Amino acid sequence: MDHSDYEALDAGGVAEALGELAGVFSLEILPECDSTNSRLLDNPPPGDGRVHVLAAERQTAGRGRRGRAWQSWPGAGLTFSLLWRFAPAAHVPAGLSLVVGLAVARTLEELGVEGVALKWPNDVLIQGKKLAGILVELSSGRGRGLAAVIGIGINLRMPADAAVDSPMGVTDLASCLASPPSPSRLLGLVLAQLQLFLEIYAAAGFAALRGAWQQRNAFADLPVRILGEAHELTGTCVGVDDDGALLLQTAEGLRRVLSGDVSLRLA
Ligand code: ATP
Repeated sequence: MDHSDYEALDAGGVAEALGELAGVFSLEILPECDSTNSRLLDNPPPGDGRVHVLAAERQTAGRGRRGRAWQSWPGAGLTFSLLWRFAPAAHVPAGLSLVVGLAVARTLEELGVEGVALKWPNDVLIQGKKLAGILVELSSGRGRGLAAVIGIGINLRMPADAAVDSPMGVTDLASCLASPPSPSRLLGLVLAQLQLFLEIYAAAGFAALRGAWQQRNAFADLPVRILGEAHELTGTCVGVDDDGALLLQTAEGLRRVLSGDVSLRLA
């Protein structure tokens, strides 16, 4: 597929979609970078009261969890990261990647996408296929307090020959919407939702958003497997708790699974 005519990101389009929230963010757009998360972790910008957002037209080494790769192609998607600073006394945040997924899901729903669901802990699915990936990494900010680098990749229009090795299959917005938004508009809309959800989260924790997450739980009441623990766990996915941990009904009773090093699969 020829991507020479792809629509580039532009700050004006992002600001337009953000409306009155435009002043909350400072936006930096790079034509290319290895990983926007790595850049913000390695060189956190000095705080000026705004939320710094780094978007790249192309990521050459986009990352997923545990050393996995996030694949992207120029013009085929949106890849960006933002640096979210917590209040000085904040505890290590629980459930943050679920909240980010919720913000992306709400953006898609507002655009009219149907069949949006969340796969614990951090994937956004449409009709069961992966549309977006999220990578949240904590940074102690070298004396500047606790901060989270939140990376998001969303497929807009993937090349026909894109080969992505994903257990659940992949999809893009062009397959779900007659007129998908431009990358700039999509970025502005996602940032606006993030602002909304992260404010609720900062004030009241994941507990306040748990119900909204569970309404979109892709595997609700389904038999699932948890990979990555010493012994594979199987059970029924009953939801998440107030910390965003997965609740699994097993033969031995209710088990609580933390997101650290595990992957969720349909059994
Ligand atoms: P899982 O729960 O599926 O084990 P994960 O949540 O740990 O995976 P992530 O780290 O979020 O996965 O994302 C990386 C994975 O996403 C890759 O291993 C690949 O399967 C898939 N992937 C990579 N690029 C894309 C893309 N552009 N679109 C959809 N899926 C992708």
